[in-house]
Amino acid sequence: MARFIFVTGGVVSSLGKGLSSASLAYLLKSQGYKVRLRKMDPYLNVDPGTMSPFQHGEVFVTDDGAETDLDLGHYERFTNISSKQSDNITTGRIYSDVIKRERKGGYLGKTVQVIPHITNRIKEFIKKDITNEDFVICEIGGTVGDIESLPFIEAIRQFSNEEGRSKTLFIHLTFVPFLKSSDEIKTKPTQHSVKELRSIGIQPDIIICRSQQSIPLDQRKKISLFCNVPIDNVIETIDVRTIYEAPISFFNQKLDKQVLKYFKLKSKKRPNLNPWKKITKIVLNTKKTVNIAIIGKYVNLKDAYKSLDEALIHGGIYNKVKVNLIRIESDNLKKNEIKKKFKNVSGLLIPGGFGKRGTEGKISAIKFARENKVPFLGICFGMQMAIIEFARNQLKIKKAGSSELDKNCYPVIGLINEWDKDGIKIKGTDKDLGGTMRLGLYEAKLRNNSAINRIYKSKTIKERHRHRYEVNNTIKDKFEKKGLIFSGMSPDDKLPEIIELKNHPWFIGVQFHPEFKSRPLSPHPLFSSFIKAAKNHK
Ligand code: GLN
Repeated sequence: MARFIFVTGGVVSSLGKGLSSASLAYLLKSQGYKVRLRKMDPYLNVDPGTMSPFQHGEVFVTDDGAETDLDLGHYERFTNISSKQSDNITTGRIYSDVIKRERKGGYLGKTVQVIPHITNRIKEFIKKDITNEDFVICEIGGTVGDIESLPFIEAIRQFSNEEGRSKTLFIHLTFVPFLKSSDEIKTKPTQHSVKELRSIGIQPDIIICRSQQSIPLDQRKKISLFCNVPIDNVIETIDVRTIYEAPISFFNQKLDKQVLKYFKLKSKKRPNLNPWKKITKIVLNTKKTVNIAIIGKYVNLKDAYKSLDEALIHGGIYNKVKVNLIRIESDNLKKNEIKKKFKNVSGLLIPGGFGKRGTEGKISAIKFARENKVPFLGICFGMQMAIIEFARNQLKIKKAGSSELDKNCYPVIGLINEWDKDGIKIKGTDKDLGGTMRLGLYEAKLRNNSAINRIYKSKTIKERHRHRYEVNNTIKDKFEKKGLIFSGMSPDDKLPEIIELKNHPWFIGVQFHPEFKSRPLSPHPLFSSFIKAAKNHK
């Protein structure tokens, strides 16, 4: 029987609802329960796929090809449970479903309204696709009091009323500030936030108080009294030194214990916190650093490359080094500055990307890495740029480019239907871009005795994709003759998935996004190997 845990946030945003939900999920899973995590986002986009990282941070891609909120990345990294399309919903998706149905006459002449039609659709989503899970943790995006999130809050209130309180639990995460001037911890914002929640009909069962320092018993009692929550269910979460400490911290605060107690369940076994303790120790005590340069368009925006940053840190944990990320805006990268900028850099990474801005800087940086034998990892767009660089400078195809960026180029990168047998003609490129991406898990077969084969220790792999353009396979032989090997191919041999350079210590490009599958407790082999190469560089 599934039990539903709803996590709301109050006072301010960015309190770490995602991390709290993910940590709780880990603790429950580790005690033998089957857990599922879901996210409800109050914005009107149907999914975050079309949003710029400037707006919403990274777009996280699931195995089944959904473009989702980056919180699903936290969930997967902490629990190792693969999310699905059905685990993320937005206001936009709900409304579009309801309106579609209305157009088809699905409401039998009724007036279609937020209550009950929108809220019913939200409740359907909460229960959809649930089989034998013990717990479904649903995080509601935004902050209580926002106009946007009201239909979701109303829906979970109705849900709890229908399913019964014994099957539903409300957790509210708030902020408890410390005022330096009066040397006091303030509970009033929490009281107001809970009041707001109660005015919509929801009485939280557990309050998680985010705070910079420990909350004294008196203040916790005050929260308990004013917010009508048992004192043991007022749980503090003090800023952790590294996010990997979060599951340990929530365990020490007995969050999982209180959740199980609420549902009258027993712990099946003690949660295993040793792996988290081990990596926390490594992260906090490692002195040796390697400098990795990331060259991209959104480098100054926190969260724009969330999974990538994490995967690099995981690679560092594996190699017991601290990864120092040097973020370089590709727009500002002048050719003549490259040598100076990369002086202390031991590895270069070009992440995924879209559009022309900043591409020439990326190509120059790749040339530098290739010629100076600096470890290089190109991800998706980064791999495509490496192909262009090689075609221009080694194959001497001066007009080599991607038809995404230049319709008049020689398309070494293009849409799959764009090249003829000789690989040069562009046929009709002005197609509708919507729904044409290769998304989600695809298989690749790896060439025997290649670097990538040694790294993965496997003949076939499955990785997540999110791109529209492909490497032009018709000129594969020309690349290989000059030393750039297509060492990973789609099972039908049509689509190049991985490239690697012979006579270079570590130069690999991948058409997929390995970062989505890296976990702190099981770092991705590609990142472990890349960081190892960087560690050994110079
Ligand atoms: N813009 C490129 C494409 O659509 C690469 C996308 C990416 O890096 N995710 O193929």
